[in-house]
Amino acid sequence: MTSPALHHLSVADLSRRLRTRELSALELTQHLLARIGRHAELGAFLATDEAVSLTQAAAADARLARGEAHALTGIPLAHKDVFVTRDFPTTAGSKMLAGYRSPFDASVVTRLAEAGMVCLGKLNCDEFAMGSATETSAFATAHNPWDPTRIPGGSSGGSAIAVAAGLAPCATGTDTGGSIRQPSSFCNLTGIKPTYGRASRHGMIAYGSSLDQAGPMARSAEDCALLLTAMCGPDPDRDSTSLDVPAEDFTRMLAGSIEGLRIGVPKEFFGDGLSADVRAAVEAALAELQKLGARLIPITLPRTELSIPVFYIIAPAEASSNLARFDGVRYGHRAAEYSDLLDMFKQSRAEGFGDEVKRRIMTGTYVLSHGYYDAYYLQAQKIRRMIADDFQHAFTQCDVIAGPVAPAVARRIGETANDPLADYLADIFTLPASLSGLPALSAPAGFGEGGMPVGLQLIGNYLQENRLLNVAHRLQQATDFHLRVPGEFQ
Ligand code: GLN
Repeated sequence: MTSPALHHLSVADLSRRLRTRELSALELTQHLLARIGRHAELGAFLATDEAVSLTQAAAADARLARGEAHALTGIPLAHKDVFVTRDFPTTAGSKMLAGYRSPFDASVVTRLAEAGMVCLGKLNCDEFAMGSATETSAFATAHNPWDPTRIPGGSSGGSAIAVAAGLAPCATGTDTGGSIRQPSSFCNLTGIKPTYGRASRHGMIAYGSSLDQAGPMARSAEDCALLLTAMCGPDPDRDSTSLDVPAEDFTRMLAGSIEGLRIGVPKEFFGDGLSADVRAAVEAALAELQKLGARLIPITLPRTELSIPVFYIIAPAEASSNLARFDGVRYGHRAAEYSDLLDMFKQSRAEGFGDEVKRRIMTGTYVLSHGYYDAYYLQAQKIRRMIADDFQHAFTQCDVIAGPVAPAVARRIGETANDPLADYLADIFTLPASLSGLPALSAPAGFGEGGMPVGLQLIGNYLQENRLLNVAHRLQQATDFHLRVPGEFQ
């Protein structure tokens, strides 16, 4: 294999080159900004600012020259547009926030900036992270670099496009019900959602607060480990749900042997709904892990199917409350014409929010209303606990759980336009880990129909990110799927 172009080098590779001064952060940033400009048609970015990025790159070069560099100093990245940033506008993919500029940075943004990373801009996503295709973005149609007629996945679709097309070596994403794992799977990337509470939610525009987690999307498990190490850690003053566990070095266990590791394979993840091409790729990846010494253990996660109704009650319920703040008074869109205060709220929200967001607010308000609260919301909370208990039972039999990320490869743009439920159903394999707050990762497992990428999902017990990254890294040492890049974007 010929060595990859500058824009397809891994974070780990770039880090070495930056520290030996073989490459400067400024050169690298200029190269990527030029590519971002040339590939605007992909719909990856919602905002860039050359002057800001180049200033950050020059500061990183100065730090590298002083020999005070962190492993990530000078590495460019871009943020999903649900992280608020001072230096770039933040929209969450919604007209409601068009032109909004935050007076502060999200904690995750601050941490990565403190490591010396260079921000290339803000990335397209589904409106308020609600969606599985980046089709609910109010601003730009997002195209999968592996086949531009198809979706990149969502809601962190812009993040996936940017890395897959070589516009950025890595990106942040957020995952409420699969939004890091599913686009990673659809675009041949590695992406990890850590244990709920590992990464601060401060400054991450809230969707479902009991589910939302930030995480990295990159080319390899090694790159994700480097990024996750910098992203995570307690933030007690700003996020009360941030876990009180010390920051950890997630690169520590990457190379460890997986001899004797027990990999649980849930039968519910391999039922009739799984397409044959995805099944074949996932099974081949599992066979590869067996060759590396892992043991496959059949397990059951009996309430897998229930995770769909449970998620689509709880997430909208929380969203309806979180989105109440967009009232046209404090920030965001305000209607130009209205008769009184109530009418101002109504008109501003009617104009600012898109259809999917309105659908979620209506569902959420309904399930929380008097008389329905017990019938829907409370029941959903009970089943949520049972889903989490099923995982704890499974983890008495195995060390990690493996299966597909999504039932099929990325579909065509517009295919489910008249059927929002179709996309909800396709979240079936990512929702259980989200509802349980467990860490979960997607790693390239091969290719399926139309030459489209397929991801392998690995789910671990609480705080076991190290183990997931270890398994994915070993797989990536034995296979080269993660090194393939889409033809047009070499
Ligand atoms: N697809 C799910 C939804 O639309 C999850 C999205 C996410 O993880 N942000 O709500």
